Amino acid sequence: PPSIRKISEKYDKVFVTGCLEPKVDGPRANAAFVVLARNKELEGVIQSIKSIERHFNRWFHYPYVFLNDGDFNSTFKETVLNHTSAPVEWGKISPEQWGFPDWVDENVAKEGIAKQGDAAIMYGGMESYHHMCRFYSGHFYKHELLQKYEWYWRLEPEIKYFCDITYDPFMHMQRNNKTYGFTIAVKELRETVPNIFRYASAYKRMNNLTSQGLWEMFTEDIEAKEKEEALKADPKYKKPLPKEILESEPGRGALPEIDPEAMEGESYNMCHFWSNFEIARLDWFRSKEYNDFFKLMDRSGGFWNERWGDAPIHSLAAGALLGPQDIHYFRDFGYRHTTIQHCPANAPAPRQLPRIPFLEKTTEDEKKRIEEDEYWATPDPPKENGVGCRC
Ligand code: GDP
Ligand code: MN
Repeated sequence: PPSIRKISEKYDKVFVTGCLEPKVDGPRANAAFVVLARNKELEGVIQSIKSIERHFNRWFHYPYVFLNDGDFNSTFKETVLNHTSAPVEWGKISPEQWGFPDWVDENVAKEGIAKQGDAAIMYGGMESYHHMCRFYSGHFYKHELLQKYEWYWRLEPEIKYFCDITYDPFMHMQRNNKTYGFTIAVKELRETVPNIFRYASAYKRMNNLTSQGLWEMFTEDIEAKEKEEALKADPKYKKPLPKEILESEPGRGALPEIDPEAMEGESYNMCHFWSNFEIARLDWFRSKEYNDFFKLMDRSGGFWNERWGDAPIHSLAAGALLGPQDIHYFRDFGYRHTTIQHCPANAPAPRQLPRIPFLEKTTEDEKKRIEEDEYWATPDPPKENGVGCRC
């Protein structure tokens, strides 16, 4: 598949380079941070808010929308409010957007989930995780609190930004006509998505979608484009989907097998945008095309019989519906979530410190400030600038 770097060089440049003062009084986008969380994740949530506030939002003041399938308690709310001056809204997710839909046989679905637990599939046995993935795949953008927004920036507990973000990524995406932004792409655990590509591929074929050049990022075959041309001449290409998938009763029992012959000679390479960071246009998710995609994927039962993550769902939808020119790789954002991180290789050196604490005796106070990132962040705007990263 074409490397992200190649795609980026060709279609997608870094929005801003060099020193830049935070543009505090520029126009704002119609955008919000979206945080799905549980009360027990408060500590991780505060870590994330501290980081995004320090490196971005203290200048930009974008609002937060917190979502939960339960109720946020007052400790959670008060603590969050103590860490940002931006507006915060609290949303509860309705049972229609969380949990089993009525067309699913719950007992069968629960059995499927238990089996995945027995097979030691990561999060496979955890029902709530399946609900979360399905919510982020097909429902979050329909939540009433998000209706007024055009853009969102997804934030999770336990993330860390390493560099100051001194420009407005929403506004730059808007100006550059971008739909979906990411900062890390990684390989999915194969056993969580054994059949996902068959269905995504079926969606693409059923809707006569030809790749705009992004689909290949997710496929194993380097020459997929040429093969596609060749296959178009092949009558098998037009072969309809097997009856089993078109007429199957959704959500019951095992996934219907799709005739491998009906596929396009490609397989999923497991690559996906790591969706715990995302900056994207909500109207793409709200589009008929995306929702048709979600519906087909959903009806297959893969959110229960397998443990499809929202990351490969978003990614394969992007592959089917978008082109490289619609995607932005935020390679200038230093970002970490639990064990995986991205550090911009070409980040400018941090500004000179009064003295270099690592090389001299470090006082306890300095240690604390280093730990809390203060040395590497831009001081109050707009007096000084700098985009130092310490990853
Ligand atoms: P991981 O990043 O894949 O390990 O998964 P996480 O446990 O971080 O879950 C992803 C996101 O969904 C995080 O923002 C969690 O706070 C949130 N989340 C996961 N499960 C639940 C749940 O049952 N209820 C709520 N309200 N949020 C959840
Ligand atoms: Mn997480």
